[in-house]
Amino acid sequence: MSLVTMKHLLDRAEGYAVGAFNASTPDMILDILTAAEQEQAPCILQVSWSALMFIGAPVFSTLAPELAKRVSTPVAVHLDHCTDLGQIEQAFGLGFTSVMIDASRLPIEENIKVTREVVRKAHARGISVEAELGRIGGTEDDVWSDASTFTDPDEARWFVQETEVDALAVAVGTAHGIYKGEPKLDFQRLRRLHEVCDAHLVLHGASGLPDEAVTEAVRCGVKKINVATELKLAWLEGVREIPGDDPRKVLGRARERVIDVVRAKIRLMRKGLIGD
Ligand SMILES: [Zn+2]
Repeated sequence: MSLVTMKHLLDRAEGYAVGAFNASTPDMILDILTAAEQEQAPCILQVSWSALMFIGAPVFSTLAPELAKRVSTPVAVHLDHCTDLGQIEQAFGLGFTSVMIDASRLPIEENIKVTREVVRKAHARGISVEAELGRIGGTEDDVWSDASTFTDPDEARWFVQETEVDALAVAVGTAHGIYKGEPKLDFQRLRRLHEVCDAHLVLHGASGLPDEAVTEAVRCGVKKINVATELKLAWLEGVREIPGDDPRKVLGRARERVIDVVRAKIRLMRKGLIGD
């Protein structure tokens, strides 16, 4: 159908959230898009900078936008957590329709300054921007934080007004990587953030979240939900399941596992829409 921006997808997400799935390898690009096609759902295909370097920027920029255009539902191609303005400018020329500037390590005034600059440059090229305010704990690809600082709704309102960012990743109790105990999400804070923020809310660290927490987050107004770790685990599980020496069989099982997880997550995020 079409390669669109993240904002295009999120503006239209009424009663559901759009799944944003991280590809770690070239084959996962295809797996994620296949799952979106099979579910007939919009999706966001995303990579971290290190995954982009592993796949190879020329390979990714040739494959991802072309394959995304062939899916019969709208797809956005997004660069996940990026802290480097030079890398973001490179991404502008690689077919991304959306980027995330993560300046959440900086004091809020600095975060605003950096994010505003990225928004100005990206919007001039028709590219959407996601930013982060507060700190999401845990480890995943290029992000690491040993502590989580919940997002303050008043600061978030101010941040969005000042930056005109399209989407905001908020810290409400989720974490990157694998959960050790059951995560407790602050839904009241999420509702308040949705009320006061003039940007789409993004939930990171959805791998391992109980299904009820995901559906409740969607009810609270979250429009984009990131899934990375569970896809890596599914891929590894698939690869380890098949003994022998046929790469197609080994990768074939990994593909099935990844597609299954992406499809299940899409259905979960669209549960309110289909009403079951
Ligand atoms: Zn994240």
